Amino acid sequence: IGLDFPVGLPRLSAEPHIDPPAPDAHKYRRGLLAIVAGDMPGASLLAAQAALRSGAGYVKLLSDHSHPDVPAELVVDDGPLAEALEDERIGALLIGPGLGRTPAARDRLSAALAAKRPIVLDADALHLLDPTMISGADTANIAITPHEGELAQLCEAFGIETEGKIAKAQALNAETGMAVLAKGPDTVLAGQRGTRFFERGPAWLSAAGTGDVLAGISASRLAVHGEAHRALEEAVWLHHEAARIAGAAFTAGYLARAVKPALEAFL
Ligand code: AMP
Ligand code: MG
Repeated sequence: IGLDFPVGLPRLSAEPHIDPPAPDAHKYRRGLLAIVAGDMPGASLLAAQAALRSGAGYVKLLSDHSHPDVPAELVVDDGPLAEALEDERIGALLIGPGLGRTPAARDRLSAALAAKRPIVLDADALHLLDPTMISGADTANIAITPHEGELAQLCEAFGIETEGKIAKAQALNAETGMAVLAKGPDTVLAGQRGTRFFERGPAWLSAAGTGDVLAGISASRLAVHGEAHRALEEAVWLHHEAARIAGAAFTAGYLARAVKPALEAFL
């Protein structure tokens, strides 16, 4: 008690406190999240559904596809991506879920990184990422959420040969400066504040689309306060709590809706 662990030594993540909006809050100042969509809109819509319930005041989908099932609360900007990314009010970006791995997807990722905003990279963005894309970037603003396969591939891309999930996450964080959330049955975060473990979440999370929900929560929190390590830590707690609320055999869409009561548990 009273002793702090040295930075870098893993310790259990402390339950976060989520701040409600300030009395004079404004939808843009509360956090404008722009989700860069790709070829498979379903995944970015799941992320958006979760993001809308995680604290951001405004969630936008930057997409040149048509989206038949877009919720009314979600604003779709189908104009040129470069123009949409110029919006000074953007608090954070999310790219990866449903992005695809085509040359066009790679261009969208490069454009998103070039916007130099706090950003969450997940899924296909992690497959496309290479060291040249983040050279010169303020990587403390970048949060990544790889599962085991994506972590292995990232380590290869960045020339990291360490064995083991914790060591890989720590090496990737040390090498690049990005906050690294290594997902799976056990989750470990290596970020600016050191390394954190989490209690295991419900195994019902092993379902398609739950990672997209986590990415949406992470990006929403990042849009609110801009701190990568903190956003990822809050996101894991919210994700696990939403899963507990959702119960058994839930779908990712149901999980995304359960983020609302989950957030209330941390106010
Ligand atoms: P993805 O692999 O991107 O679809 O993300 C899956 C999500 O579910 C991540 O947040 C994992 O941490 C979580 N998850 C996967 N399997 C389990 C499990 N067996 N127990 C708890 N959480 C899990
Ligand atoms: Mg995923």
